Amino acid sequence: MVTQAARRWLVAVSFSAVLVMAASGARAADVVTTTGMIADVAANVAGECLSVEPLMGPGIDPHLYEARPSDIPLLRNSDAILYNGFNLEGQLGKVLARMAQSRPTVAVGPESMKDDDLIKGAGGYAVDPHLWMDASLWARIVPTVADVLVRVAPDCEAGIRSRAANYQQQLLTLDEWVSASAASVPEQQRILVTAHDAFRYFGLGYDIEVVGIQGISTDSEAAIADIRSVVDRIVSRNVPAIFVESTISRRTVETVVDGARDRGHDLTIGGELYSDAMGARGTPEGTYIGMIRHNTRAIVESLGGSVEPWPGSLPSFAGSGRSNAAE
Ligand SMILES: [Zn+2]
Repeated sequence: MVTQAARRWLVAVSFSAVLVMAASGARAADVVTTTGMIADVAANVAGECLSVEPLMGPGIDPHLYEARPSDIPLLRNSDAILYNGFNLEGQLGKVLARMAQSRPTVAVGPESMKDDDLIKGAGGYAVDPHLWMDASLWARIVPTVADVLVRVAPDCEAGIRSRAANYQQQLLTLDEWVSASAASVPEQQRILVTAHDAFRYFGLGYDIEVVGIQGISTDSEAAIADIRSVVDRIVSRNVPAIFVESTISRRTVETVVDGARDRGHDLTIGGELYSDAMGARGTPEGTYIGMIRHNTRAIVESLGGSVEPWPGSLPSFAGSGRSNAAE
């Protein structure tokens, strides 16, 4: 039982902690997320009601991410934590378990997906964690995120529910746009070769065969055989482009390009894709919708298709121009 006076004291202490953090320039937020993709959903649903901050910025690999000293006060002072789950944030398990003892700490993937949606036993993971690559799956986390935010700020419930419904509809519209755009790629060329296994849900959702080239140490014979078989598939199916990713080194991809050129097949690098992190804040790719739009344009146009007109109900990103790295 906490007495009235003790509660007042606790409120005063945590309030001054916030002031100290603000004065020292430390990060503080009501809701902390691991990835930027989850933060963007939460921020869209929260509106002005709650502040949201991701631990991981642009170009950060969530598979390897370990908590930094400055993350601990940010997490400890939050009212709720949202993370992807399915072991995406494998190095944060202990920290998240500790935080879960004192505030809602929710794995949005496991909490939102149906078993049938999941890709199992891929890339060393029991369940492939890259759910955001299929916008129809990512739309499923929106109500989960809304439930957590309502627990934190019950007074904001009406606004949270209405923003959640609106944002979920936007993600479903995005999903239709990606689907229709991907369908324009000639069937023979509907093959996505990337250096990292992030795109299986994209491939499954939008009917594109995905070939991942594992990160390599070039002196391993398995890796060399792997690359040779990828080059065989590229040459035999006349694939025009393969892709690099913002969180992965270009070296592996360049090795494949050289291999194909040695066999007289002109292979281009089809621009940078965002796999496990969004782009810089303040750019279209710094939002989830903008990130998926960028990837879809880069993939579809490099593989010989053409994207559908951008839906009027989605953010126009007006003034930011075309940002397709494939151009
Ligand atoms: Zn990944």
